[in-house]
Amino acid sequence: MRGRTGLTDQLNKLNLISSVTELPGVGPNIKSKLMKLGINTVQDLLFQLPIKYQNRTKITQINESTFAEEVQVEGTIISTKTIYRGRQNLICEIEDNSGQLILRFINFNFSQKRQLQEGKLIRCFGSVRTTGRNVNEMIHPEYKIYSEGCSSPLPNRLSPIYPLTAGISQRMLIKLKKYALAILDLCEEEEIELLPLEIREKYQLQNINKILPEIHFPRPHLGIDRVNSLKRDLAFEELLAQQIHINKLKSKTRKKKSVIVKPGALRAKFLKILDFSLTRSQIDVVKEIDCDLSSGVPMQRILQGDVGSGKTVVAAAIALNIIEEGFKVALMAPTELLAEQHYKTFKNWLNKLNIDVYLLLGKTQRTNRDQIYTILKDEKPLIVIGTHTLFQEALIIEKLGLCIIDEQHRFGVQQRKKLEQKGCSDIWQNHVLMMSATPIPRTLSLTIFGALDISTIKRSPIERKQVITSVVQGQRREEVVNRINSIFQLGQQVFWVCPLIDADASIQKKAASLIAEDLSKRLGKSKIGLLHGKMDNLTKEIIMSDFLERKIDLLVATTVIEVGIDVPNATLIVIDGPENMGLAQLHQLRGRVGRGSKQGFCILLYGEKLSANGRKKLEILRDSTDGFYIAEKDLEIRGPGQLLGKQQSGLPTYKIADLVRDNLLIERAIKISRSEIIKDNATKTKLLKRWKPDELYLNTF
Ligand code: ADP
Ligand code: MG
Repeated sequence: MRGRTGLTDQLNKLNLISSVTELPGVGPNIKSKLMKLGINTVQDLLFQLPIKYQNRTKITQINESTFAEEVQVEGTIISTKTIYRGRQNLICEIEDNSGQLILRFINFNFSQKRQLQEGKLIRCFGSVRTTGRNVNEMIHPEYKIYSEGCSSPLPNRLSPIYPLTAGISQRMLIKLKKYALAILDLCEEEEIELLPLEIREKYQLQNINKILPEIHFPRPHLGIDRVNSLKRDLAFEELLAQQIHINKLKSKTRKKKSVIVKPGALRAKFLKILDFSLTRSQIDVVKEIDCDLSSGVPMQRILQGDVGSGKTVVAAAIALNIIEEGFKVALMAPTELLAEQHYKTFKNWLNKLNIDVYLLLGKTQRTNRDQIYTILKDEKPLIVIGTHTLFQEALIIEKLGLCIIDEQHRFGVQQRKKLEQKGCSDIWQNHVLMMSATPIPRTLSLTIFGALDISTIKRSPIERKQVITSVVQGQRREEVVNRINSIFQLGQQVFWVCPLIDADASIQKKAASLIAEDLSKRLGKSKIGLLHGKMDNLTKEIIMSDFLERKIDLLVATTVIEVGIDVPNATLIVIDGPENMGLAQLHQLRGRVGRGSKQGFCILLYGEKLSANGRKKLEILRDSTDGFYIAEKDLEIRGPGQLLGKQQSGLPTYKIADLVRDNLLIERAIKISRSEIIKDNATKTKLLKRWKPDELYLNTF
């Protein structure tokens, strides 16, 4: 009795922002483990929600338990024995008045075997699976043993399941959540309700102190849908906090300075030496970027446009402004192949204007590299093109004015930042132009990328015929080979992209060689080339130029060809094993063909079987060549974490919001964050503290 009052007294003194260490049973050790879950305060405990629930409020009859569903059953143990199935299994048979069920333990100890005594009453929770015989089984159920007539009462709420970390058990979290809810129950309304009444009424938001207990420990009759709809009100608050954060980031950038540039004579000369003129779309984005550059505020912009839409020439036109102003430009590409291609293009254009272009690769010879290092330390304006070589700490780029990052999603955030921050300070920030051929779905551009401005090249310079795509099963390889032969008859060339079986380049190389060998048997005397990530750049370059000059008919390649390579006479691309690649990547690969005036074709050659998602993916690709549509679908299928690329999959997820499900709430959050409804900064700060949107951004910017 005394202990209980003691506990209530202790909790009484706490509030939402009290540290977890003030809760009973939380010492420095537990505290540090909770920190890994992002939990520092009572409020953090309240807003870390269950990922799912278990229903232990009822007992299901054994014969009514449905396959694959989690149920709780209760019965009498009728036998317990061990059997050998490759290893020892503990098999315990139970029955209630409706039927029998087997409990199977693959890992067990002998005290467990002793415990599961014949005649004892047992309550277990787990999912039921069929065995092919007339009795079903539960593998490794949670269980509790009772003596006859002594079973404990059933809980009247659903049991939450929280995300865990080593050293923190579900039970401990549940105990802490109950403390936190008790504190919530005692706290003042204005402490928990941060949004003005005006907003809460207008959008009919429910009281947080009413919905949180229901989300953590729902009453069973509410149903999962209802519980999820309660979460939406919280998701809205989270998205709003994110928008407030975005606005703050933007105004912070706006306070910094950057080189002020205006289009000058160099740009005009450049446009004259081009053997084409810019399209309307290109002119528009150049204008948008010019506007940023002449403002004195650091540019933070993404230039997006489908493969082949002509981003490079835009980047060059912009770079010239910076150079004319006496500053340097750094252009970073994700692969050496692409960096080399840019180098050639830029050299070809800019040398005519007497502007120096340098290439810095991992393979660059030491003496050459040292020379470039020295030149970059100098004040002279120039452009340097490279890969990861550019963000190395030892590299000093004096008077860097603009960083251009091609295929930005292929870089880790930290890598990009290292380049962007070169030579910067609290008051100075380089202009940054990121380029992406993977269109950014609207939801992401409003949230994750919200602090960036976006320019889009809407149309490609040359109206290309849409690539005709077919989905073909792996067993029909022979037909595909015939198809290749007919392309050869037309004097056209073919790409064959190998399946993505492993991240390891040497394993990829081996698989690619086998495919090349097989194809050369099937295709007789046609010339087959092989391109993979294990080759040195010189070799890759020779092979690419052989392909370009038609010395090779068919190029077998790993996904290294994904970005940037332009071979107008290649009209067919066979993508082997497309089911293991992402939609965006497949779209990029497909963009390798149909780059000339001829009709392009793509065959998606999948393996034996296809998952439902795999099929959906390939059908989306077959039915559309619209990069934006494909990106939206990609977001739906894979979720934002993966869409942003491998490097960013460590992206912390939202606490509650789901960008696909809560799509509509985003617009509302933007509107409110920009309005004057939330006037005082204290409220904004409290929202930021509660939702910590900066953690979401930590890895993004
Ligand atoms: P991406 O956006 O994929 O980087 P590129 O910049 O590589 O595309 O451009 C693809 C091709 O289109 C290049 O060969 C480029 O020279 C050409 N190109 C770019 N702009 C135009 C234009 N306005 N008119 C004709 N061709 C253009
Ligand atoms: Mg490009």
